Amino acid sequence: MMEYKCLNCGKNVQLDLKSAKRVICQFCGHRMLIKIRPKIAKRVVAK
Ligand SMILES: [Zn+2]
Repeated sequence: MMEYKCLNCGKNVQLDLKSAKRVICQFCGHRMLIKIRPKIAKRVVAK
């Protein structure tokens, strides 16, 4: 389970990439999410 933050609505989104093939916000459907890690945050763009 990975945790992301939506760039659109700002909510935290938890995704299991094994079951969810697309990284997409569960609240607003936005596709640009930031991967949340303790110290490093990388931008993830799902196409
Ligand atoms: Zn969102």
